[in-house]
Amino acid sequence: MSPRILPLAVAAALGLAPAALPSVAGAVPASAAPSGGALPAALPGASESGPAATARRKPACKGTDQAVRSPVEIDRSAVCKRPVPALVLHYPRHVDGQLVFQDKAPVGGHPSEHDDIRFVIAGPRPHITFGGERYTLNNVHFHGHAEHRFAGERYAPVEAHLVHEKATGERGYVVLSVLLDASPRRSEHDRLLASPPPLGSAQQVRNIHLKDLLPKDRTTYRYTGSLTTPDETGDYFRPVNWVVFGEHAEASRASVHGFRSLWPEGEGNVRELQVNVPPPNISVS
Ligand SMILES: [Zn+2]
Repeated sequence: MSPRILPLAVAAALGLAPAALPSVAGAVPASAAPSGGALPAALPGASESGPAATARRKPACKGTDQAVRSPVEIDRSAVCKRPVPALVLHYPRHVDGQLVFQDKAPVGGHPSEHDDIRFVIAGPRPHITFGGERYTLNNVHFHGHAEHRFAGERYAPVEAHLVHEKATGERGYVVLSVLLDASPRRSEHDRLLASPPPLGSAQQVRNIHLKDLLPKDRTTYRYTGSLTTPDETGDYFRPVNWVVFGEHAEASRASVHGFRSLWPEGEGNVRELQVNVPPPNISVS
């Protein structure tokens, strides 16, 4: 079923309507978000408003809103408190696709830092709206160790990127970033990480629940940056709207270890943290 023509009743059953209709940036107060259980269709925006709140939050927004180089370190205690674009997920209940172990030129035949395990969805692409604009889900891929890091915290062993590309107009992206910890339990991430295909090949994967790839807590850290892998000319495209979840998700220890061991010891598919001057404004929602 195309998400574009999702009937209202079905959308309601998926928890996507009526809040899934495009909304004004930052108009969804945090207090409106359902607590626990079903995924809120709209991730909460900042709840403060009015001149007093503006004065209070101004001092923390000392960085730049220009697109910086990614990935960056995120300081949870120095965020810029202001409204953020409304983010609404229009994901279907489950999707099928291909799991690919990408083997990029010019290094072929063994995993390089620019290769990854990626899930490419077959059929109509799920989409999100970000600030009322439509972005379609291009792929879900993984980096090991993580690329983003929270200040004062260790690197997570794996980071998942759900890459959404702007559907119309100028090129642009929204990437949902989920840091993964190794756990005794399995999760939906194990469906993509547990038994990857050989380098340069693909295999079918069915019935992936995209929403289950996201952590339960919907707090996100937002900034404008770049892609973390270059195109053929060596350019790291920007702007990219980064949405990094504050809570980590999980995958089983076996899957995390197996994924990390695809690259030689001490190597991985990671771009190092980028130091930007001035640093980006990072907002929390
Ligand atoms: Zn990535």
